[in-house]
Amino acid sequence: MDSLRFKALETMASRSYPKPVLKDGKVSSYFGCDVFGKNQMKEYLSSEVYKKVMAAINDGTPIDRTIADQVAEGMKIWAIEKGATHYTHWFQPLNESTAEKHDAFLDPHLGEQSFEKFSGNMLAQQEPDASSFPSGGLRNTFEARGYSAWDPSSPAFITDKTLCIPSIFVAYTGEALDFKTPILRAMNAVDKAAVDVCQFFDKDVTKVVTTLGCEQEYFLVDEALYNARPDLIQTGRTLMGHTAAKDQQLEDHYWGAIPERVEDFMKDFEEECFRLGIPLMTRHNEVAPNQFECAPLFEECNVAIDHNILLMSIMRKVANRHHLKVLFHEKPFAGVNGSGKHCNWSLATNTGVNLLAPGKNPKTNTQFLAFFVCVLKACHDRGSLMMASVASAGNACRLGGNEAPPAILSVFAGATMNEMLDSIEKRLSKKLTTDQKTALKLHIGKIPEIMQDNTDRNRTSPFAFTGNRFEFRAPGSSTNCALPMIAILTAVTETLTEFKQAVDRLIEKGEKKDEAIFKVIRQFIVASKKVRFEGNGYSEEWLREAGDRGLRSMKMTEAFGEYLTEDNIKVFEKYHVLNRVELQARYEIKNETYLKKVQIESRVVEDIAKNHIVPTAIKYQNLLIENIKGLKEIFPDRYQQLAKNELEVLENISMLSGEIYESSLAMTDVRRRLNKIEDIVERAKSYEAEVVPMIDLIRGKIDRLEMVVDDEFWPLIKYRELLATLS
Ligand code: ADP
Ligand code: MG
Repeated sequence: MDSLRFKALETMASRSYPKPVLKDGKVSSYFGCDVFGKNQMKEYLSSEVYKKVMAAINDGTPIDRTIADQVAEGMKIWAIEKGATHYTHWFQPLNESTAEKHDAFLDPHLGEQSFEKFSGNMLAQQEPDASSFPSGGLRNTFEARGYSAWDPSSPAFITDKTLCIPSIFVAYTGEALDFKTPILRAMNAVDKAAVDVCQFFDKDVTKVVTTLGCEQEYFLVDEALYNARPDLIQTGRTLMGHTAAKDQQLEDHYWGAIPERVEDFMKDFEEECFRLGIPLMTRHNEVAPNQFECAPLFEECNVAIDHNILLMSIMRKVANRHHLKVLFHEKPFAGVNGSGKHCNWSLATNTGVNLLAPGKNPKTNTQFLAFFVCVLKACHDRGSLMMASVASAGNACRLGGNEAPPAILSVFAGATMNEMLDSIEKRLSKKLTTDQKTALKLHIGKIPEIMQDNTDRNRTSPFAFTGNRFEFRAPGSSTNCALPMIAILTAVTETLTEFKQAVDRLIEKGEKKDEAIFKVIRQFIVASKKVRFEGNGYSEEWLREAGDRGLRSMKMTEAFGEYLTEDNIKVFEKYHVLNRVELQARYEIKNETYLKKVQIESRVVEDIAKNHIVPTAIKYQNLLIENIKGLKEIFPDRYQQLAKNELEVLENISMLSGEIYESSLAMTDVRRRLNKIEDIVERAKSYEAEVVPMIDLIRGKIDRLEMVVDDEFWPLIKYRELLATLS
């Protein structure tokens, strides 16, 4: 048994694993020690410069060159003291990774330890050779010039002796080539719109920040097994594999004891995260075998996004030390749960109020209701756009399957809130007396008390209210959270603006402020009604009902189109989040990425089918043929009966492997034909319509074959091996 599969299993069984060398002492003694955070800035910057940087962070005031020079100087001294030799602008181009180009602090010409000046210029701006980042036709490659610029609102940090400076990435013509630029713009837009609405309730509110806490789900696979699965290596998911007899049926994995090897890995990456100021809080097993989750304490949206990306790269790196591979793919294994990245988000004021949490009195509760209905209406008005923001080849395999919310946006408000919304709708439909108004306010004032025991949490909803925040559960585990958050914040900016204008209009007409606010709250409740759904989001009935309500379930390539509807372009442009050209670019990149992924998967399936599976089937066939021949020689009269089972298996194998071979050839032909389609969007659509079903078809046949071929012959690590508890 010297096949790759058995060698890998042997390697896994015989290898020893390093124990993490963990720091002693309290986390607080080293939390954030590799970050140029507030404390470090206080120490390394003059108080005047420190104040200016804080103003830039809090109010977005620009930092001038002399200040930038001084920040750079302080940052450099700090970084070099900590052993850094290089610096880089760290940014998020429109693919699924981060980009960095390291430049040394050392001046190579001087040879000795002579530090090149790290100037404000270098801090503020870096010009990477950007020609090969995806730009969706935004830049012609011959003028491949984009530059990265420092984002002071996310602190610089050191990893692997390199000072990383979180940056935006824009074209020389100003268009955003990254995720960070538009999320900063969207946070800014929602800040303004939210402050305007808060002004109805509290004049002290001058700033509203978006908060975000992303739960990160992932799978772990032993490195040796991973290396023996070409599909995992090349596509991040298994493209074939018969389900194991036992996977998640017994629900014995979820929140069970974490295997020691995995816990060692977790402790190890958590420590690295703490050093970088990532406030990881929870870790637990997830539903599927070898699936886990971690979640940090929420932070300001922009920082939370940077931290999530950093977390993923730390996890990948640390996993290697433990001979593990982390899978961030949305659906690495068919038949068991996929992985998501739930975006928990809310809005918080400078006065310390969480705008999506019920308040302490009728006034703050009314404010909460105002924000609540604005979110509902945003989901109603721009639900398709929100779903488009999470559409990807990976998420296509997850959404709507095995306990993942379907690709239809609905909102779960919970019993308390539903009752409240319904009662406001009913009561306010007629003119209220003063007493009735007081009663309504009292009723509203009671929200927090009732909320306490409102613990029913519907896990089947893609967008749920969870007591003091909303949780968008559709985003896939590999996504950059900026994508969904840009869509959500833009949509909410729009409804908050509408809310404010509608109230103002009523006040102008002589309505009292309170009454005007209640009227608009009611209007929003009525207008957004069809997006509220409390039932089982996984059920067939819901699919039908959603259709009747006019809520759309879209194919992936259809969803991408949401980025280019005139109505969506208008809202993005109105709030200066993304302009038409930037949207066009994103649309193209989404299509192109999707197309490439399906294309790669199709090629890998074909390779494995033709070069691993079919030859294996033939080898086993020959063995069976030999056996049957032998039986015939010895028992010429009775062999048909004696070899009945072998003959049946032989026939089955011949048929399946023949079909697998033919389907693979047919798939190549289809690809060849589709590759002639000039337009990338059309090509992506055709791949979704024609190639994806063929991949699934071939997979189905291979999985059936796996069940009839002798286990010793099977070349690929099986599901039961990949999903066996790591120990
Ligand atoms: P669950 O698994 O019960 O949904 P977790 O504890 O795994 O919850 O994750 C909840 C996430 O929501 C955490 O990251 C938490 O910090 C975040 N969160 C809590 N309150 C807020 C808030 N006001 N704004 C944004 N995120 C929040
Ligand atoms: Mg959770």
